[in-house]
Amino acid sequence: MTILTKENLKEELRQRVRESYAVELEDASADELFFTLGSLVKAIYNDNWRETWKNYLKEEQKQSYYFSIEFLPGKMLKSNLLNLGLLDLVRDTLSDLDVDLDDLADVEKDMALGNGGLGRLASCFMDSIASSGLPGNGNGIRYDYGLFKQQFVDGHQVELPDEWLNNGNVWEIRRPSKAVNVHFAGDVYLKENENGQLKPVAENEIILRAVPYDTGMVGYQNGIVNTMRLWSVEIPASEEGKYKSIEERRVYEDLTAVLYPDDSNERGRMTRLIQEYFFVSAGVQSIVRYFQKLNKPWSALSEKVAIHINDTHPALCIPELMRILIDENDVTWEQAWDITVKVMSYTNHTILAEALEKWPVYLMKQIVPRMYQIIEEIDRRYVESMRGIHPEDLIQRTRIIQGDQVHMANLSIIGSHSTNGVAKLHSDLLKSVVLHDFYVIYPDRFNNKTNGIAQRRWSQLANEPLSNVLDESIGQTWRKDSSDLKLLMNYQNDEKVLEKLAQAKHQKKEELAEYIQETTGITVSPNAIFDVQIKRLHAYKRQLLNLMHILKLYFDLKDNPELDIHPRVFIFGAKAAPSYTYAKAIIKTINEVANMINNDASIQDKIKIVFLPNYNVSLAERIIPAADVSEQISLASKEASGTSNMKLMLNGAVTVATLDGANVEIRDAVGDENICIFGLTEEEVYAYYENHEYYSKQIYDENPVIRRVVDSFVDGTIPNIGYEGREIYDSLIRYNDEYFLLRDFDDYCRAQERIDTTYKDQALWRKISLVNIANAGRFSSDDTVRLYAEDIWQIEPIFAHTEKEGTSNVFNSF
Ligand SMILES: *Cc1c(COP(=O)(O)O)cnc(C)c1O
Repeated sequence: MTILTKENLKEELRQRVRESYAVELEDASADELFFTLGSLVKAIYNDNWRETWKNYLKEEQKQSYYFSIEFLPGKMLKSNLLNLGLLDLVRDTLSDLDVDLDDLADVEKDMALGNGGLGRLASCFMDSIASSGLPGNGNGIRYDYGLFKQQFVDGHQVELPDEWLNNGNVWEIRRPSKAVNVHFAGDVYLKENENGQLKPVAENEIILRAVPYDTGMVGYQNGIVNTMRLWSVEIPASEEGKYKSIEERRVYEDLTAVLYPDDSNERGRMTRLIQEYFFVSAGVQSIVRYFQKLNKPWSALSEKVAIHINDTHPALCIPELMRILIDENDVTWEQAWDITVKVMSYTNHTILAEALEKWPVYLMKQIVPRMYQIIEEIDRRYVESMRGIHPEDLIQRTRIIQGDQVHMANLSIIGSHSTNGVAKLHSDLLKSVVLHDFYVIYPDRFNNKTNGIAQRRWSQLANEPLSNVLDESIGQTWRKDSSDLKLLMNYQNDEKVLEKLAQAKHQKKEELAEYIQETTGITVSPNAIFDVQIKRLHAYKRQLLNLMHILKLYFDLKDNPELDIHPRVFIFGAKAAPSYTYAKAIIKTINEVANMINNDASIQDKIKIVFLPNYNVSLAERIIPAADVSEQISLASKEASGTSNMKLMLNGAVTVATLDGANVEIRDAVGDENICIFGLTEEEVYAYYENHEYYSKQIYDENPVIRRVVDSFVDGTIPNIGYEGREIYDSLIRYNDEYFLLRDFDDYCRAQERIDTTYKDQALWRKISLVNIANAGRFSSDDTVRLYAEDIWQIEPIFAHTEKEGTSNVFNSF
């Protein structure tokens, strides 16, 4: 058996660079070296990938398929190396060649096929599912362009295309032999066949070819490699003749070109609906094709396959599986429905009304006519089955088709056996408010699965200094089992460990300060408090509340230059949906306030604002390890879970938070003394909705501090803003402050004062930071997916190779 050494690794690279690029290793460009190393890494795990798949087949393992319209893996080189146990070896080998692994890893383009939390969760799950040895796969869309690249021009957000595939994608494998056809549009009517069965006949359909691109999801040192399958559109050869011009083809060829850059409000966009059906139909067809290889009766489908609907975008999985069973395989409706409900499960990700997906009936009839017919029948039978059991008004409120709209969440709940929320508070709200009607009907279908994060990426990869301190103090077991982070609690009063943790933090702050200098020209001191709010720009997340507090501090400093506050750098990272003008107004305003404050010598650098452009996974990996303060300040009840709160906690940041989403569980984990809670509770917010007694104008009139801050948006204090300031002012005063910023402002300022005083007491601060790291283990997505596996999918871990076997096997492939 070949053991991988520096020498044979170098030799392998040398050989491959010569073969691929006709240059010597020493002369290879960074791109050439990256692609060579990437393809070598892929070759290393390919044997395990094939073996994993063969094992599933041989053991006839039940597998789960996670359908998600977004995946946000970021870069994969270092993560694959870590999971293969090759990180140190490759680092050393490259270092012999005078190449820095981190620099080389930067060559990789982020795979950014998602907007934010939803897509990132899907990718954390992919890592954890493989790392837990669970038979689970991803299913999604291979967008040619991921989420737009963000730049600031004169403080405004400018969106540039994300051409991530320009230099090719080293990780994917195109599998044309596994392509399937997807049928759209046309006229579908039912006709009796020779056996007297009603079967759909379609005329004038559009047929597209879905070609899968598979990417290996490498488990953490366990020899398991699962599959993320992303579908790309092509025109089938049989259809070539149908298109008279290139323009006509183009419409269809562009179907998988772009990710919709909107993670909450869905416009009635035709392409989006086609995209949804495209990856759903392709995915379900390929799953059924696999099942048929097993030669089992249809009744066994739910024993072999679990399909997960990640938010409602893949909800058409339900009617699509019904179609395949009844139209193509003569299963009776009753049996098909029984199977479908057992196979499907659904996660709800939001309670924001505008984000609950609905499609106009006319559009569905036009784009996916057979799907619509099946949905109508599901809806009709649903109503029929509930009559006499539940009151009519309840039935009507929970129907799938209401008026001229199809409610995708209703379809998802009715057509699946499990509906889960993503944090305790969120799941409770689903039961008590948002989906209460469904909870009355299907109480057993509701459950909670609090989100988690792939801790390996957010600690071991992103924060080596911290990881080293952990190794030295609590040993290395936390790297595999994050619950062992708890061991750090034994060092709460250990000066040496506390000092080392502080040094690790300082090192990451120095690195971030350097990056800030390079990318924005702003000089910040690593001795300042690094106060971080990184997430999509959305009114409910309240970046504006953060900005209002900064303005207050600034005015306080202008009034009293001797004000004793510890210097602070406020760091923002956020993209706004291109059509979301209010969010863009906030970006512009933050940038102008930053200009004003950063260039005002009179405040002696006590506060600085840095808005880093193009927030994505790679930028998150730079910012999070350097954060002292984590801003999680959404209006209580609006953030379903949040995951950046977990990433920041793991890296020792202290959370300033409302009792929203998973913040509640973070508070429970660390205790009130180790988190800074402020603001309205969810009950108080709902009480305001009931009693209609909130008047933001009254707070504005009665509170001079708030008045000064709010007026600054329109009175010329902030240079270079126009309608943006007016829009903000109007939202707060004229439109009665939908997200209660003025109501929470004073309490937020007090919370920030507590942060300031606590930070000045470094002994206390370090201890709080340690307690946060020590208690972050429970937010590992390894645990989350285990619960999905046990409670929802009913899948079991497979036998995993040991670490050694895993690595040695690998080298037989050379
Ligand atoms: C974790 C993450 C998110 C989610 O952030 P929230 O604060 O939970 O909304 C969004 N984008 C990226 C790039 C992330 O890494």
